[in-house]
Amino acid sequence: MLDQKESDDSIAGSKVGPAYLCLHGHFYQPPREDPFTGQLPLEPGATPFANFNEKITSECYRSNAEAGNFEAISYDLGPTLAVWLEDAYPEVYQRIIDADRKHIARYGVGNAMAQPYTHTILPLARTRDKRTQILWGLCDFRHRYGRDATGSWLPETAVDIESLDLLAQNGIRYTVLAPWQAATSIDPSEPYLVSLPGGRSITVFFFNEPLSGGVSFDWNMTSNADLFAANYLPENLDHSKREAGEAQLILIATDGELYGHHRPWRDKFLTHLIQIGAPAYDFEICTLERYMRMYPPTREVQLLTPSAWSCRHGLARWDTGCECTEGDSSWKGKLNLALRHLAERGDQLFERYVSETLDDPWSARDAYLPMHNGWETPESFWVQHGKQQRPPIDPLAQQRTLLLLEAQYYLQSMFTSCGFFFEDLDRIEPRNNIAFARRAISLTWQALGIDLQPDFVRELCDVKSGVKSLTGDQVYKQLPVLRPDQLPPLPLSLTRNGDQKENIA
Ligand SMILES: [Zn+2]
Repeated sequence: MLDQKESDDSIAGSKVGPAYLCLHGHFYQPPREDPFTGQLPLEPGATPFANFNEKITSECYRSNAEAGNFEAISYDLGPTLAVWLEDAYPEVYQRIIDADRKHIARYGVGNAMAQPYTHTILPLARTRDKRTQILWGLCDFRHRYGRDATGSWLPETAVDIESLDLLAQNGIRYTVLAPWQAATSIDPSEPYLVSLPGGRSITVFFFNEPLSGGVSFDWNMTSNADLFAANYLPENLDHSKREAGEAQLILIATDGELYGHHRPWRDKFLTHLIQIGAPAYDFEICTLERYMRMYPPTREVQLLTPSAWSCRHGLARWDTGCECTEGDSSWKGKLNLALRHLAERGDQLFERYVSETLDDPWSARDAYLPMHNGWETPESFWVQHGKQQRPPIDPLAQQRTLLLLEAQYYLQSMFTSCGFFFEDLDRIEPRNNIAFARRAISLTWQALGIDLQPDFVRELCDVKSGVKSLTGDQVYKQLPVLRPDQLPPLPLSLTRNGDQKENIA
């Protein structure tokens, strides 16, 4: 069904421009595991499954993989989800990874895209954190797909020029944005070039807004793939391009989970649309790099920066809160502040102490992911990043460095965007960001005997849920109890403070 058609269909003797349809799925779940045990909590909302990872795998990842949908669409598989899926359902995982190889075998280019590693809103991050997020994402991609990534999804399509430039500097040639992220007028049926510093550039595909929104939120629109192809695809074509014989692309970019999880049977809708519905109406199914190779961008666009796909309030949704979530979301700004202060202190300690053992602390952090994930041995890491000195670095100093590198991993994880996406503090996502922060605090204490906990918890007292009388420090104190060798208990002053708050509650 996916065989390449003649690209110059002829109707009544005149050339008709070819129409391509690309479906991009952003497959990603917030990390749910307890950072001390690696275990996922029981989630009653996912019954009869133990947790949402299990439920979504059954409803979406497995069904789409077994139907061969990944081979036809463009997709990104979030790295932290990939780690879980590879371990829990290796056969589902392998089908998703193999889809990219099959696409390369068929078309000469892949259809999988990378993603910054822990789904951080890049424009809100500091430059060196943007770089780490991107490099870890690209390293993860290389490990899984056996090739360098050429495209990268941006978490929440949150964009600024620095993030795009860091992507371009690291070999990324294209990404996807929402049409309202363009500052100059665009025709979303073709890709655009964005000029970057130093003569670099990156290609941006803008998704079709009514169709991406409809597939995401309108159940009626996706109840029948034949009707969708008949009623919605042709009306979204640019007819002047069609008549002029020019090619055009309709890109439908959404969360991948809506194909089967957010709505049952939408995985079947996708299969039918790809195999029968779209081709019946003269749409050729295509992927982004393949389209870019056939029809490279010819026009430039200026972007609205910073911006994201979720709403029109810049990045406020993940920063200080915006009106798109119900109620008072001012807890987001306070939580961000507490996390940023913790990151600053953690970074200062990291830089000071690992400078004794590593040539360049920040390049070593950029290269740390393979060791964290067990893809590289510590011996190999030390050969590449350790200071060559006589006598050799002593084992205690090595151990301290490894603990501080691992603390950096969690100082990155605690900015996972999901923690700030929803309306309230009392959810698993912000709780997990606070749990990741505690893991970083614990590792720093184990490395140096320096306890960052009191200052952090004091700041968490100002993080107040807009719905319940719950504060950030209470969330912190509700985390599973740790052993004394993992972290000393909180000072009594903070414990009492918390008790008083709980009594008032
Ligand atoms: Zn908003």
